[in-house]
Amino acid sequence: MQYYSTIGQADKATLCEAVVNGLAPDGGLYMPERIPTIPKAFFNNISEMSLADISFVVANLLFGNDLDSEIINDIIKSAMSFDIPLVNISENKYILELFHGPTLSFKDIGVGFMSRMLTHIYPMPRKDGRIVNILVATSGDAGNAVAHGFMNIPGTRVFILYPKDRLNSVQENQVSMSDATNVVPIEVRGSFDDCQAMVRNAILDPEINEEMVLTSANSVNVARLMSQCFYYFWAYAQLIRLGVNTDNLVFSVPSGNLGSLTAGVISKRMGLPVKRFIASSNSNAVFYDYLKTGIYHPRHSKATMANVMDVGDPANFTRLLDLYNNNHEKMSSEISGYTYSDEQIKETIYNTYATNGYVCDPHGAIAYRALSEGLGNDEIGIALATTHPAKSIDSITPVVGVNLNMSRQIHKKQSEKRVECIYPTISALKNILLNSIK
Ligand SMILES: *Cc1c(COP(=O)(O)O)cnc(C)c1O
Repeated sequence: MQYYSTIGQADKATLCEAVVNGLAPDGGLYMPERIPTIPKAFFNNISEMSLADISFVVANLLFGNDLDSEIINDIIKSAMSFDIPLVNISENKYILELFHGPTLSFKDIGVGFMSRMLTHIYPMPRKDGRIVNILVATSGDAGNAVAHGFMNIPGTRVFILYPKDRLNSVQENQVSMSDATNVVPIEVRGSFDDCQAMVRNAILDPEINEEMVLTSANSVNVARLMSQCFYYFWAYAQLIRLGVNTDNLVFSVPSGNLGSLTAGVISKRMGLPVKRFIASSNSNAVFYDYLKTGIYHPRHSKATMANVMDVGDPANFTRLLDLYNNNHEKMSSEISGYTYSDEQIKETIYNTYATNGYVCDPHGAIAYRALSEGLGNDEIGIALATTHPAKSIDSITPVVGVNLNMSRQIHKKQSEKRVECIYPTISALKNILLNSIK
């Protein structure tokens, strides 16, 4: 399968090129040239299949022409090795817990898959001895997942750019205290959007590319994007197993960079019977406004308690436009938007705990609230819960007053690193990158 750029000025790329380059040379995002359809027979026994079985079938359809089935199987077995339970919260509303991976964020799914695929198609260490440098901008979760994915893989170095003062204490500990020697955290005096723009500029910079081998691990990477389809199919399978009528299935997707939502739309195009999607966001309402008005107006992001979704110019928006042929009416008839303030997020965390005994994290709370407000009686709704509530312990404890069971990973005390803090300019980043190979 070949991959084209959403801008359309670059040559089509092979899977290998698309995964290694991250971004197309014209600055566009790669898209698969066709979306394969799942054979109908697959749905006959989907309820008996494991998460790994289902992921394998989906991955094989997407990547099977480019990679050996055995390799795909190896990648899946090791990347999809944790539980993704579906929890019934009330009547027709469910929560899909995507946060049981190694860094307690759903980013572990796409990043775990992508890092393993990269090491298969692009063996590291490289024969010529050059280091493969992986750049990632993070709003809190992706950086940790990427650091974990590449931790101590010989021949790699990971640069994590994150916005100063915008991560919560658990996220910042995770990112700045990684004890892997190949992980370089960089604090940026700016927003996540600044970090994302710096990574993009670095990937496209001729001088840096002359000097070093670079790739990006952000959700713009096709391997990361496409592997997020797995959990949509898995969620559906679990509903079937429960004997639930899935005729009118709705997913509520907590959205930042819109990678997860894009994967949902691709899953539907592959034949997963989804009726519609809800894009739920915090008060950074760029996509919400687009759905309402048809006008896309990127702007600076505001800090919110669902901080991983503090995005003012979502990268995957261009992929959604591409999937809907730039047709606002079509997109907004299949995706509806909801946006919530911090006060409303807290209210939802409180109410869901008081009424259902379930502790939501702020991102999952947004998705769940949108279901509560937007789901019809004849619909079945699944809200994606994207990060473990213990990762937001500082903001959740005052709301629900319970002692969250902190997990092992978070407690682990690691050696503190000296973290460089730079201004959001490409030259500052360039300095660090070029110095690293001296
Ligand atoms: C990354 C992230 C999101 C947003 O996902 P996108 O694919 O960027 O829209 C939501 N919640 C959490 C916890 C995340 O880490």
